Amino acid sequence: MRLDPDTLLIVNIANLLVMATTLPIIMGAALSDAARAARRALIVQALSWIALVLSGLAQGTWMDWALSTFAMATISVANWLMYQALAGWLGPRPWRRTLLLLLVAMPVGYTLSFSSYPVRVGWANLLIAGQLLILARATLWPGSTLGGRWRWVILGCLLVMAGLTGARGVMGAWFTELYPTFTAPHPVNVLALLFANITLVIINVAVLVAWREEAEQQLRNLAITDQLTGVRNRHGWSEPAAALVTQAQRHHIPLALIALDLDQFKQINDSRGHEAGDAALRLFGRLLTQGQRSGDVIARMGGEEFCVLMPHADAAAGEGFDRRLRAALAVAAPAELGFALDFSSGLALIDSAGESLGSLMSRADAAVYRAKQAGRGRMVRASEVPFEKENA
Ligand code: GH3
Ligand code: MG
Ligand code: MG
Repeated sequence: MRLDPDTLLIVNIANLLVMATTLPIIMGAALSDAARAARRALIVQALSWIALVLSGLAQGTWMDWALSTFAMATISVANWLMYQALAGWLGPRPWRRTLLLLLVAMPVGYTLSFSSYPVRVGWANLLIAGQLLILARATLWPGSTLGGRWRWVILGCLLVMAGLTGARGVMGAWFTELYPTFTAPHPVNVLALLFANITLVIINVAVLVAWREEAEQQLRNLAITDQLTGVRNRHGWSEPAAALVTQAQRHHIPLALIALDLDQFKQINDSRGHEAGDAALRLFGRLLTQGQRSGDVIARMGGEEFCVLMPHADAAAGEGFDRRLRAALAVAAPAELGFALDFSSGLALIDSAGESLGSLMSRADAAVYRAKQAGRGRMVRASEVPFEKENA
């Protein structure tokens, strides 16, 4: 049995075209930027291979030059789109500038050196190999919350393709008789074309898995986020809050909890309408978020009640947070809502003798109640943990 490069090329193009046309049907129109970039990479890659085959038919003419240059440029574009997809799924990726440099230098150098086969083929393949290596690195490092095993699968595919493409570059540049055209039947070339097919299929499966993982992550975020204010909801609060309490107890780290309740909120709803109430809640959520330090956990516990958990914060830090929030609200509420908004709050510091999250919260809530009774619009420090609880 012989595997001839022409057939492998045609099969690869057929696969690319079929995938590029069926993926939109499978994935639908409502795509994230990352998924859209991955899908476009496929379409652009198909264009590139088609141009490459056509250039082979036009050998020796100016069309050969134009189509080959187009093929190289589109390979760069496809690799850039793949990088964008990875960045969309995994967060900012390293070596962006180096990649951009290689993406531009590859087709430019190729077209300028077109008259010399060894130079242009060596240049293009080695630089593509470099692009693939940067993409390979981008699959794994730095880590990210997203990223199941599909990242390893893409990494493997990219490394194999980088190796084979690099080998083609070396043959084209220094052993040109082994690789005189891109359809040369040399085993390395046959392997490269075969793996172009295989990795295409595998990378597409990996892309679909990444896309699914992204959707799952979005659902998870949706489940723990309060849709009106964008801060965590009660469900999203309990897990990080419990972890912070455990950490504070274990390592004797100070931990402050502020419970906040908007004042006379029912009146705002009654006199200005529910929409105005919602706008007030959104503003309050935004100011809380703007005032937080990294590590703080903010949540809307329900209605017009919020909580802020501040690791490493003592009473002064808690009071400072409250003061700054009050000042920001005094300016922002009249300006953005057209009416004043105020809140009452309770500050509780975790007791070192093994206090639970529930006890901490009820002390903060009791302090809010006292703030209301004292005339609202203020912060009250929670009372100490009752003696019995300390010994419990
Ligand atoms: P106090 O100063 O004693 O806290 O008085 P209050 O009116 O703020 O407290 P109360 O608990 O009586 O009223 C809370 C109101 O918050 C009642 C409820 O209609 C309103 N509320 C709860 N959730 C929302 C919401 O999502 N949007 C709006 N607009 N109002 C809400
Ligand atoms: Mg309330
Ligand atoms: Mg209230």
